[in-house]
Amino acid sequence: MRHRAAALVGAAMVLGLLAAGADGAHKLRVVTTIPDFKALVEEIGGDQVDVESLARGSQNAHDVEIRPSLMLRLRRADLFIENGLELDAWSDTAVQGANNPKIVRGAVGRVDASRGIQVLDVPSTRVDRSMGDVHPLGNPHYSLDPGLAPIVTQNLVDGLSRVAPELRATFEKNRQAFLARVEEAMVRWTNALAPVKGAKVVVYHPDYVYFLARFGLIQVGMLEDRPGIPPSPQHLAQLVRQMKDERVRVVLVQPWNDLKLAQRIAEEAGAKVVVIPTMVGGIKGVDTYIGSIDYNVNALAQALR
Ligand SMILES: [Zn+2]
Repeated sequence: MRHRAAALVGAAMVLGLLAAGADGAHKLRVVTTIPDFKALVEEIGGDQVDVESLARGSQNAHDVEIRPSLMLRLRRADLFIENGLELDAWSDTAVQGANNPKIVRGAVGRVDASRGIQVLDVPSTRVDRSMGDVHPLGNPHYSLDPGLAPIVTQNLVDGLSRVAPELRATFEKNRQAFLARVEEAMVRWTNALAPVKGAKVVVYHPDYVYFLARFGLIQVGMLEDRPGIPPSPQHLAQLVRQMKDERVRVVLVQPWNDLKLAQRIAEEAGAKVVVIPTMVGGIKGVDTYIGSIDYNVNALAQALR
């Protein structure tokens, strides 16, 4: 009699689990540091995943405050995806606080999406604080380059498959479909920027090196003479002279940069400011990876025309 009761309880539990699975409670819980990886994981994981990003697209990804709701997500996460190259080193404190052994550094549920990419701007000398916010491992803003999507999505598929090996084929199939769309879009992006190839631009912060290199545009100067530190008047005066000499027509800025300052410098140099967000969601309503590259390419092509 007791056995039978136990069996019934067991069956009820199995049914409960099945029901939970059917209504989505058993989706893989993924947390990413920046929204670009959220967008990519959604492409690869489809309805098998439930993804949230610690940073919002309109935020400065160098410096993010972790909300308590996201700490809770980290605590229950199956997989945690970071940009790496110290862009999101701030997430370490949150991960420590989350007390989730599955996602600590070195655990199966931890993914560094930068693995295998060719890193640009690696400092050739020792980095110290007087140089400003220089990224000691090299430039971490690679997610803006759609040409790196094959490597980055491979890292994501590997990570997802470590925690859900039975879904590897599904993830890979979704990845291939996504990469086919990126390849198709690459033709349109390359065409849109082809007429302005070789154009010289000035940037606020060195966020765009991978993106500019991909499409053959040349960064000749920065508003910040030292990354992350407000520029000196001497530097700005010299920059304006240089922009006039080299006929620079565009200054690329992030939504959170000092737009007034950028506007003033652009005006003095006879150039214009174009807001190019480096992350998905940086412009309201632009919520997919391909959509965000579309936006950036079009905005830049238009400004340079
Ligand atoms: Zn940076």
